[in-house]
Amino acid sequence: MAVPRKQETLSRLDPRHPLALDTKALGRRPGSMRTERLTVPAPEDLGVEMVGVPKDADLELDIRLEAVMEGVLVTGTARVPLVGECARCLDPISSIFEAEFQELFVYSDTRSGGESGEDEYRLDGDFIDLEPVLRDAVVLALPLSPLCRDDCPGLCAECGVRLADAGPDHRHDAVDPRWAALEGLRDQREESQEG
Ligand SMILES: [Zn+2]
Ligand SMILES: [Zn+2]
Repeated sequence: MAVPRKQETLSRLDPRHPLALDTKALGRRPGSMRTERLTVPAPEDLGVEMVGVPKDADLELDIRLEAVMEGVLVTGTARVPLVGECARCLDPISSIFEAEFQELFVYSDTRSGGESGEDEYRLDGDFIDLEPVLRDAVVLALPLSPLCRDDCPGLCAECGVRLADAGPDHRHDAVDPRWAALEGLRDQREESQEG
């Protein structure tokens, strides 16, 4: 008895994955179109070092699927919550971020005609794996040095206080190191007298 060949056609993509889109209802007639609005949990590690989308946070997706000759064109917007740290003053940051994306998914049974065959996206059976597209759209658009506000003055290089709190007059007078040593002695004496 022949070994069933089913295994070969088994989908790699788990259809229950929240970012797996089923295109069956779209059909393959070029020009047919569907729109979908979904809220899905954010995948892990969607972000850069200082800012990102918390895992399982709500991603709101507005998606348009269009059948074209060679596959399905996916156009969409993702609204994602961001949390992170200001690169200057290290204060927590949170905001809502909108990323747009558009990608062609080539039918899995179609031979690729383009030269860019290597890095093209493919449908997996009837399914589209939106995760890599979303990841690119969000991660590449995130600032590497996010700021709590555009003119954040950051921290004092001398004492580390937040300059936004300390005010514009905050500064340290340059002290001659020999005087600084004397000051230290005086402070010690005062402390021992108090004690
Ligand atoms: Zn800041
Ligand atoms: Zn200071």
